Amino acid sequence: MSESPPVLELRSLEKHFKTSSGLLNTAVNRITGGTPDYVRAVDGVSMKLEKNQVQGVIGESGCGKTTLLRTLIGIYQPSGGEMYFHGRPVSEFDKADWKDFRRQVQLVFQDPFNSLDPKFTVRRTLAEPLEIHGIEYDEARIAEMLEAVGLTPPEKYLTRFPSQLSGGEKQRVSIARGLITEPDVILADEPASMLDVSTQAEILNLLNRLTDEFGVSMLYISHDLSTVSYICDMINVMYLGRVVEQAPTKELIVDPKHPYTEALIKSIPVPDPHYVRDRPDVDGEPGDPINMPTGCRFKNRCPQRMDVCDEKPRDIELGGDVNRTVACHLYNEQLLEGAQ
Ligand code: SF4
Repeated sequence: MSESPPVLELRSLEKHFKTSSGLLNTAVNRITGGTPDYVRAVDGVSMKLEKNQVQGVIGESGCGKTTLLRTLIGIYQPSGGEMYFHGRPVSEFDKADWKDFRRQVQLVFQDPFNSLDPKFTVRRTLAEPLEIHGIEYDEARIAEMLEAVGLTPPEKYLTRFPSQLSGGEKQRVSIARGLITEPDVILADEPASMLDVSTQAEILNLLNRLTDEFGVSMLYISHDLSTVSYICDMINVMYLGRVVEQAPTKELIVDPKHPYTEALIKSIPVPDPHYVRDRPDVDGEPGDPINMPTGCRFKNRCPQRMDVCDEKPRDIELGGDVNRTVACHLYNEQLLEGAQ
């Protein structure tokens, strides 16, 4: 019997934007033979999200994670590569496939304060996705979802408007709205980042429990490695449009292979005033996504830079019992062989 394909798979997915100066330059480029400027926001990302798996995408602001998310939900058309849903290429989807995809892949937004319609009661907020996807209105199902996200008793919440809910309660309603159509995938865009610390923990625990309970896969996007490592089975570290390291959470945190991952781990806050932290070894800002450095994109900030880093590192599978890859010349086979 053949194994089922990943729920969601990306193969070298790209999303490039032509800049306004690029547009302006188009006429000039036609004459001079030059090439227009592009922001390579997502530039060859590959990953597999398996059934019931929770994967994180972590990186600094501007690394491309939000563009990746918008490409995944179809707001942006990919510039290259392919995305597969249950093994089928999304580029071949017809109208009915897209309708089904939009039911099966739900988004939980970062900002619970603006993601709910202020004119809708909780009941109407949860009824709306049912209506959009042609599912019969079911008050019992709505009440069940409210109970599942911890808004009990449900009757207390059904007639409330967003202005009558706390930030944490709003995010619970958003999660219930995301789950009510019984999706296969939740795309979570930093859903805890705008909440206070104790509510953040509650929302993370809730997502953890619900992904198990509902058998749903989740891609969790964040700049905060501590929350990603708390909730995710597997982490993708993104830098300037590319995934530079991909590994199961424990392996990545205990034994990071890419110098950028190492720096991110050193930046995780430690709640101990006596703890003396190693300074993160990287200074400066990420490079310009229009004028990418040649070779490794991290080389201008990397404390372990070598001459060979002027050449682009390829994804190297590290082997062993766990599935992990790193794009760094430190793990280049020739170097490893040379070191033996
Ligand atoms: Fe650093 Fe070179 Fe690895 Fe890039 S390829 S992260 S510059 S060691």
